[in-house]
Amino acid sequence: MKTTDTILIIDLEATCWKGEIPEGEKHEIIEIGICELNKHTGEITKNKGILVKPTQSKVSSFCTELTTITQELLDTEGVSFEEAIAILKEDYQSDQFMWASYGQYDLNMLKRQCKARKVVYPLSNQHINVKEFFAETKGLSHKVGMNEALEILDIPLEGTHHRGVDDVKNIAKILHWCFLNDN
Ligand code: AMP
Ligand code: MG
Repeated sequence: MKTTDTILIIDLEATCWKGEIPEGEKHEIIEIGICELNKHTGEITKNKGILVKPTQSKVSSFCTELTTITQELLDTEGVSFEEAIAILKEDYQSDQFMWASYGQYDLNMLKRQCKARKVVYPLSNQHINVKEFFAETKGLSHKVGMNEALEILDIPLEGTHHRGVDDVKNIAKILHWCFLNDN
């Protein structure tokens, strides 16, 4: 683990459905949003959304409504899950830094898919749950969603909610506020 001011923020999007999962399909990662945050200055030094082709599910219209991601987009621009993980390691040295996500979902989902696909988990074991960190730092009685956290802080939502590439930038702002106000 490097001792630096850098924290990586990860936000995943996955295939999803309105009701039950269609037979034979499963939730799979379709976007890995990542950014590199300087915890002291709040500067985002790098940012990317890696689109991933699902192999055991298709993007439903419900999923497109939620995320704006279409099956066509993934067919043309998506890379394999294995390639996406290689990008995290090569471009972000993802196993070298502390990382953060909004809640526990992203950690669980990534661990599950790495195990299922026999890919080495690409992140460090040093994880910050920003949803918990924010509730604690702000002294809230319960945890709130990312949108609500931004509203509480009077920070406008940047980009498209439920797009990993943009969600990470908004999470970075919440996390930076937590670092400034943590004592
Ligand atoms: P998020 O990081 O909040 O954009 O959500 C990550 C993933 O969780 C999405 O890509 C969906 O697969 C799933 N998800 C989030 N919100 C919902 C929702 N309201 N209904 C169904 N699935 C959701
Ligand atoms: Mg998201």
